[in-house]
Amino acid sequence: MKTLTERINAIRARISELEQQYGRDPGSVMLLAVSKTRPVAEIRAAMQTGQRDFGENYLQDALPKIAALSDQGLCWHFIGPIQSNKTRDIAAHFDWVHSVDRLKVAQRLNDHRPAGTPPLNICLQVNISHDPNKSGVMPADALALAKQLVEFPALRLRGLMTIPVHTETLAEQRAIFRALHELAETIRQAGIAMDTLSMGMTEDMEAAIAEGATMVRIGTAIFGSRSAHNE
Ligand SMILES: *Cc1c(COP(=O)(O)O)cnc(C)c1O
Repeated sequence: MKTLTERINAIRARISELEQQYGRDPGSVMLLAVSKTRPVAEIRAAMQTGQRDFGENYLQDALPKIAALSDQGLCWHFIGPIQSNKTRDIAAHFDWVHSVDRLKVAQRLNDHRPAGTPPLNICLQVNISHDPNKSGVMPADALALAKQLVEFPALRLRGLMTIPVHTETLAEQRAIFRALHELAETIRQAGIAMDTLSMGMTEDMEAAIAEGATMVRIGTAIFGSRSAHNE
């Protein structure tokens, strides 16, 4: 059995290797450790390796952990579906939100971002696979929504995020991530600055790095598989 320290160090080594293999700048892919359902003790173990950025997608699960580690200067990323009645807590306790996919939620996050805190970093979640079961703005609507998001003073649009449909081969995975990268280019060409492509999880990290991911969101490969009842 590998320890958490060994697993997270192995992931960092793999990211470096893939950066090199695909001609990416060293250090250009950030590791977001997805600690959803995992206890504070495991987050502390990851912190011992230098990990500062953690991703959570269940608010009720995340808030006590954020409180317990509030003196640690960590950076918390909300990556889960957003219910409108949760925007106050999300805007108050997180530094990033990757799953913004509609104007109403953006408006509420903006309105609830506490005065005196820096703008909330956000990514627009895109349903790049056009899957009716997945959340995210449709690609054709992404530019219009991005133009609205940049108007919010308490939000800072950083880029795009996607959770693609499951595909088996590297080529299929790459094609989907390439489409997100191209959409980001289109939005940039319309004059909207963005520096983030949040894509790639345990199963498709290589494809994402090959296609320009700047943040990979890794849970299972660091913390082990989540028990079914925690999903
Ligand atoms: C759970 C989750 C991840 C991490 O997935 P793994 O397959 O465990 O690496 C990444 N992104 C989102 C949005 C998630 O919900």
